[in-house]
Amino acid sequence: MSRLSGAEIVVVGGGVGGLSSACFLADAGADVTLLEKNEQLGGRASRLTEDGFRFDMGPSWYLMPDVFERFFAHFDREPGEYYDLERLDPHYRIFFKDGDQLDVNGDIEAMKSKFEEYEPGASDAFEEYLATSQEHYETAMEQFVYEDRARLRDWVDLDVMRAAPIGLSLIGSMQGHVEDYFQHPKLQQIMQYTLVFLGGSPKNTPALYNIMSHVDFNLGVYYPVNDEGEGGIGVVIDAFVELGEELDVDYVTASEVDEITKRREGFHVETVDGDVYRPDRTVVNADYGHAGRELLPDHERQYDDDYWADRTLAPSAFLLYLGVEGDVDPLAHHTLVLPRDWETHFDAIFERPRWPDEPAYYLCVPSETDDTVAPDGHTNLFVLVPIAPDLHDGEEIRAEYREKILADVADNTGVDLRDRIVFEEQFAVSDFADRYNATEGTALGLAHTLRQTALLRPPNRSSAVDGLYFTGSFTRPGVGVPMCLISGEHTANELIEDYQ
Ligand SMILES: Cc1cc2nc3c(=O)[nH]c(=O)nc-3n(C[C@H](O)[C@H](O)[C@H](O)COP(=O)(O)OP(=O)(O)OC[C@H]3O[C@@H](n4cnc5c(N)ncnc54)[C@H](O)[C@@H]3O)c2cc1C
Repeated sequence: MSRLSGAEIVVVGGGVGGLSSACFLADAGADVTLLEKNEQLGGRASRLTEDGFRFDMGPSWYLMPDVFERFFAHFDREPGEYYDLERLDPHYRIFFKDGDQLDVNGDIEAMKSKFEEYEPGASDAFEEYLATSQEHYETAMEQFVYEDRARLRDWVDLDVMRAAPIGLSLIGSMQGHVEDYFQHPKLQQIMQYTLVFLGGSPKNTPALYNIMSHVDFNLGVYYPVNDEGEGGIGVVIDAFVELGEELDVDYVTASEVDEITKRREGFHVETVDGDVYRPDRTVVNADYGHAGRELLPDHERQYDDDYWADRTLAPSAFLLYLGVEGDVDPLAHHTLVLPRDWETHFDAIFERPRWPDEPAYYLCVPSETDDTVAPDGHTNLFVLVPIAPDLHDGEEIRAEYREKILADVADNTGVDLRDRIVFEEQFAVSDFADRYNATEGTALGLAHTLRQTALLRPPNRSSAVDGLYFTGSFTRPGVGVPMCLISGEHTANELIEDYQ
């Protein structure tokens, strides 16, 4: 008999963590119903399709292909049964605001030469940095990421203790770690920019996240494409949903939950439309803060308001989804525009929240790789500026900031989009809150600061209510599509362990 045979489970939220946990739980024999507020599944990885343009609204970088392979392998499947991967070259292009430009790719020898041009000795330093990053990645994934160490006593294991010196030497900041290797500010920026994926800054993110350089340079950056030739992270969401269907997950969309309470006979989960579900167990993929503050009664909350007020949330974002006439050479599929001094931008996110004066931002141009995302003769592009969560984003400031960013793109990349925009939609802090019930409009969840890393993040199992679990970017292991996939697995494992 299956381990969860007869168990009825409701998953609240259809983001990556929710979809992942639903697959693992259904595979273990549970009867799984997933309730999603929006019409679409995928959560922050939703798609916007309009006027012949198809945008990934959230994630656009397919990183850590090993994590996806491991996920599908659990179900005796491979990613290739759902989509193919195209490795991008370059991985991304950087425009520095002083006119300099650099392509980053997986050709390590070529990268070493470029690094050496910036700083004598940087070629060797880069090689050493990458080797360390790879070693840390392998240890971290095996010991701390795939393996969920939820309790302190789980860390007192021989292998973990052997790996611990790595962890202990890396609790300083990424800023300090990178400065040990590189003096040139541009090289420091290149090694640190991957922190934006973790929702942190070089100063508040621990050095153990140097593992992201192995992800970036060695493992590569990919673009998924389905067998109809359509690409984007959306096709990966389609794959998770299809897998869930194969495992008999029941998806109910346009179904927003507004109450979760534990009753003697199980849970009472009620939607805003009055539909009631009575599962034995409940998994919450909606933001932890939203669930705690708005769905659970006070006595079932694991954390109070002071706890949430004291957390460091990852940034929100100001996004412009643009359909543009003509091409946008020399922008690459992934393009970063970086100011000489980006500390003021991080300061505007984490220290003194305000709209950044001299922004660092990202341009995503999937039509460089995929001609199904825009009508003939057009470009599909979005601009993403990280900004502080909870920032006021009314019409006036958006309009003003839009002008500022489009002028900045023209000045620093030479691509003037302003007279060629045929489709436009904006998305910012309040849209994250409205569309996904995002806590204070964060785009990414809880930042990976030192005190919000590993077992210091909120757990996947509620300590306040038996049978209640959490999954996704507020929990362990953390932020990003690969981490949320693993989070779904951890959550399912804990639920299965408790059920037996
Ligand atoms: C702009 C942007 C760019 C990003 N870029 C990348 C990238 O390039 N690569 C990468 O790996 N990651 C990236 N990320 C991060 C990644 O998208 C997220 O970490 C991940 O998708 C979050 O998954 P999750 O499991 O936390 O669920 P979420 O996506 O947060 O989904 C939670 C779901 O719960 C639903 N919900 C909320 N409240 C309720 C309720 N009351 N009832 C029912 N349903 C509810 C929401 O509608 C939502 O669908 C990006 C994110 C954003 C926003």
